[in-house]
Amino acid sequence: MFPGFFCVLPLSHVEFYKAVNRQPSTVNPMLGKLTGWDNTIVALATAPGIGALGVIRLSGPESIDIINALFHSKNLSIQPSHTLHVGLLKMNDEILDEVVVSLYRAPKSYTGEDVVEISCHGSTHIEEKIIAACVQLGARLARAGEFTQRAFLKGKMDLTQAEAVADLIASHSEAARLSALHTMRGGFAHDLKSLRDQLLGFSALIELELDFSQEDVEFADRKKFYALIEEAQRVTNELIESFKYGNVIRNGVQVAIVGKPNAGKSTLLNRLLNEQRAIVSEIAGTTRDTIEEVLVIEGIEFRLIDTAGIRAHTNDRIESMGMEKTREKMEQADIVLEIIDASSPVEENIPIEKQKLIRILNKIDLVNNTKPILSTVNSTLSTDLMYDAARRQDISLHDKFPDPDLMFISAKTSSGIDKLKRALVDRVLQGKKMREGTVVTNARHHDALKQVATALNEIRIGLDNNLSGDLLSLDIRHALHYLGEITGEVTNEEQLSWIFGKFCIGK
Ligand code: GDP
Repeated sequence: MFPGFFCVLPLSHVEFYKAVNRQPSTVNPMLGKLTGWDNTIVALATAPGIGALGVIRLSGPESIDIINALFHSKNLSIQPSHTLHVGLLKMNDEILDEVVVSLYRAPKSYTGEDVVEISCHGSTHIEEKIIAACVQLGARLARAGEFTQRAFLKGKMDLTQAEAVADLIASHSEAARLSALHTMRGGFAHDLKSLRDQLLGFSALIELELDFSQEDVEFADRKKFYALIEEAQRVTNELIESFKYGNVIRNGVQVAIVGKPNAGKSTLLNRLLNEQRAIVSEIAGTTRDTIEEVLVIEGIEFRLIDTAGIRAHTNDRIESMGMEKTREKMEQADIVLEIIDASSPVEENIPIEKQKLIRILNKIDLVNNTKPILSTVNSTLSTDLMYDAARRQDISLHDKFPDPDLMFISAKTSSGIDKLKRALVDRVLQGKKMREGTVVTNARHHDALKQVATALNEIRIGLDNNLSGDLLSLDIRHALHYLGEITGEVTNEEQLSWIFGKFCIGK
């Protein structure tokens, strides 16, 4: 756009712009720095162990030659890309297996290199023999995440997409799958790219002003720039905010069920899970340790933790250890369900933040129904709860527990359980729909976005105070740097090893 722009900048600027301007389709300069990146690699792509099928993946320049040396049914070196071939694999006249070979020629493959996938019978012994044969013919065993790392280095995907591959494989709920899929398909990268492109445009104009500093010209319209920064802040803050939900999607929502012994915690856990997981007993203090179970409601994973009951005094050492663990779990939990026995209600003052708490009156089937008069019920109660209250509750319970969000259930009869499940989902979604757009689920992205937000704030303060172009440009560079860290435009070998080292071998 501005011929000669780079020549007048100091070298560090040139390097910087080269780094941040890299197009996604170009080969990453890191490629040359990594050792062994041009080897042909091999690994089992399916989970180890016995299965109907096992898939072995090769990637690199010799992939097709290696498979061709083993494959005896036809000449694979002349076969086109994206084709399947059935035949026998042989090593030194020994038949290894009858397999299906898929061929993908560079650059139209997952890694951008020649890729071969061998579908064999899912025996560990057969898989090991085929991998050993490939190694004997020149392949080396792949490092953890190396296939996806190669895809990143070849510009097939950015870092957010590469990381989403691991998230997608690890996803165990609908919400996690949707979010990982969106990121893997480039949704997050797209959000960041438009932000970066706009910042880059202004940055170029401001840097240009620096070159004409003697002439007191202003290329970058400060009003437009201000509007851009405001918009960038809005987008960034929304992404940062989505991490709360993203964290929940990735790790599940920790729900601690607490309350006095015999309040019905274990019965509630069993009821929610629809199975007899915890021991239910009339003897107080039965649950001495915590029990954890996973429950998926509307695509969100909840990790239910049935805790030992809390009572003021116990001489039982094991029970008191259990109570100590309960306090620990309560602190760690995202949501705490406090169960109160409606047949002998005693208000506990459980020391937890209010926004974490859902208070539940259990055993409403035992409560006297003699005074169900709607008009006398606390008028601040929601219609639903008034209905519950009027239908089932002794009014004195409301005097005792004026909490408008109090829920009424019977873990024994199932009454109110669906409403409780709804309340759990609502607490997570906080009035929003289950997100289909970008949800930040990765702590690394979240940290970098916070740095972007800080830099954007500095730019805004700078604009408010009519700061000079060189100081503004410094903050813009910070914002661009951290945006680039998320997508992988700005990165280093150590960081890449850390990210891809967490992948499995074969990914
Ligand atoms: P925990 O110590 O809090 O885990 O309590 P439990 O789940 O072991 O329940 C204690 C007793 O209360 C058991 O006899 C349960 O059958 C009974 N119980 C639990 N929930 C209800 C309920 O909703 N209604 C009635 N009537 N009994 C319940």
